[in-house]
Amino acid sequence: MSEASFSRETVRHELAARELRVVRRERLTSSLTRITVGGDQLAGFSALGPEDHVKLFFPSPNGERISRDYTPAAFDADALELSLDFVLHGDDGPASRFASGALAGDPLVVAGPRGSRMPPSGAKSYVLLADEAALPALGRWVAAVGVEAQVTAFVQSDHADVLDYPLAYGNRVTVTAIPTGADAALAALEGPSIDAATYVWAAGEAAALIPVRRALRAGGLAKDRAKVDGYWRKGVAGLDHHAPLDPENPED
Ligand SMILES: Cc1cc2nc3c(=O)[nH]c(=O)nc-3n(C[C@H](O)[C@H](O)[C@H](O)COP(=O)(O)OP(=O)(O)OC[C@H]3O[C@@H](n4cnc5c(N)ncnc54)[C@H](O)[C@@H]3O)c2cc1C
Repeated sequence: MSEASFSRETVRHELAARELRVVRRERLTSSLTRITVGGDQLAGFSALGPEDHVKLFFPSPNGERISRDYTPAAFDADALELSLDFVLHGDDGPASRFASGALAGDPLVVAGPRGSRMPPSGAKSYVLLADEAALPALGRWVAAVGVEAQVTAFVQSDHADVLDYPLAYGNRVTVTAIPTGADAALAALEGPSIDAATYVWAAGEAAALIPVRRALRAGGLAKDRAKVDGYWRKGVAGLDHHAPLDPENPED
């Protein structure tokens, strides 16, 4: 079998900060809430890649603005509406707090995305692993590749209704809910066959992903055939996802 190409095209976008207003709030699952924002400034918005993210800006007590990263879950170019799905994690984070109380008409500044990384051209199958924070991105992956490629997806959650989240289930897509934490992730990843045409994407709580990345590497998966991304870290506010997944062992 010839090796598939795992190179991923990047499409750049002109950086814009858009001043938008909340249009509606919908509960998707017991822990995920969809906030749809709209406004004329969404003209020209583009988010082509499954892992695209925008920065949302919130006021802080000292008057500065703080930002958090979110996935553009859905965009309606006719209505000029952008939907963002928030985990309501119950901590005092500005993003989670905003989402739990947002009312129609509330302002929200949305910047980006700066660029879109497209799926790898040659992959014929995908193994995807996400917790609830990365579930909107997993949804984007499934929608982007699920018609042509075989997708085996695992969603980590402690909530029984997590698969009520709207995913584009196709004939070649299987999605399984599993418990949170590294052990459950490692056990799930034993299941699907990972061959020369498989791309692996995993995102969620950073510390839980360290053993996952280690196991993938130990299994011989080359760096360009997998992306493991820490979307948040227990006990850390506003994690920079460009920081090493494992600060103790950045090269691991
Ligand atoms: C590329 C990218 C895309 C992302 N897309 C989404 C998305 O679409 N939806 C989404 O919900 N999140 C998404 N995230 C994760 C989100 O940016 C973080 O969870 C962020 O920390 C939330 O900000 P906050 O203000 O609510 O909490 P923070 O102020 O950052 O954190 C406060 C406390 O809450 C904890 N915490 C933060 N997030 C969670 C969580 N999910 N579960 C439990 N505890 C948490 C922190 O550890 C900290 O102790 C994405 C992250 C990245 C890097």
